[in-house]
Amino acid sequence: MDSIGRFAPSPTGPLHFGSLVAALASWLDARAAGGRWLLRMEDLDRPREQPGAADAILRQLDTLGLTWDGSVLYQSTRAARYRAALEQLTRAGQTYPCGCSRREIADSALGIDGAHVYPGTCRDGLPPGKPARATRVRTTAEPIRFVDRIQGECLQSVEREVGDFVVLRADGLFAYQLAVVVDDADQRITDVVRGADLLDSTARQILLQRQLGFPTPRYAHIPVAVNAAGEKLSKQTGAVPIDGAHAATALARALLFLGHPPPVDLPPDDLLPWALAHWDIGHVPRVRALPAPQQP
Ligand code: GLU
Repeated sequence: MDSIGRFAPSPTGPLHFGSLVAALASWLDARAAGGRWLLRMEDLDRPREQPGAADAILRQLDTLGLTWDGSVLYQSTRAARYRAALEQLTRAGQTYPCGCSRREIADSALGIDGAHVYPGTCRDGLPPGKPARATRVRTTAEPIRFVDRIQGECLQSVEREVGDFVVLRADGLFAYQLAVVVDDADQRITDVVRGADLLDSTARQILLQRQLGFPTPRYAHIPVAVNAAGEKLSKQTGAVPIDGAHAATALARALLFLGHPPPVDLPPDDLLPWALAHWDIGHVPRVRALPAPQQP
């Protein structure tokens, strides 16, 4: 099977060190295997989007030499596909309307990613007089098991640790979990390489793949880059955009972070060829978070 990888940034801002390592790791993993590398713009959440960020990311990837195959898939154009998947789940009795507000769920136990486990209030029907807000998918207690290529064996009971989760949000937007599963299947992705902040979402995605009859790709979750305070690098935590004028420095730092320190005297143009020849996912640190190397 030919390998097909992808990078799926949310255009909430330009590439910074944290998103660069995800782009680079997935690019190296696909290209070192002689495979294709696809790009998907996860622009579903319009209110969180930053105007111009999608184009800025494409320009940055191009400057870095991280070339992609085919045209970019924009999630904002895919509502019909997500709706069809939702209807398929609904026809199979796998979804139900939920009328609970955030406040009504706030008393339930905290689950795997710090969110409240949905207590199943509307599972057997909306309480009388309560209008539907969101649509949830029915989860099962039986644990989902998968072997992550970096993080190793993972096991999660989605029902116990997450609860029935939202696939159509109260604001009418399709949820990330549904969109990512439909897109990974439609793009025939064989290898998902992304940040470990999404490790806990993987069982939910595998559950949806099974309910929709989609294959499950292989997963590899790289450490999340954190700042000195231990916070994930993001626009909110003040991560600086990757500067195209210093592309080689950024790539060298990213390779170091990924457990592939390049030789110090390597000419800038040789960095990616060197990394392709030396890529071994077994060298990526098997941790969920890692401080970003200091800027030289
Ligand atoms: N769009 C997500 C992000 O930027 C990544 C989704 C994924 O790789 O599955 O964090």
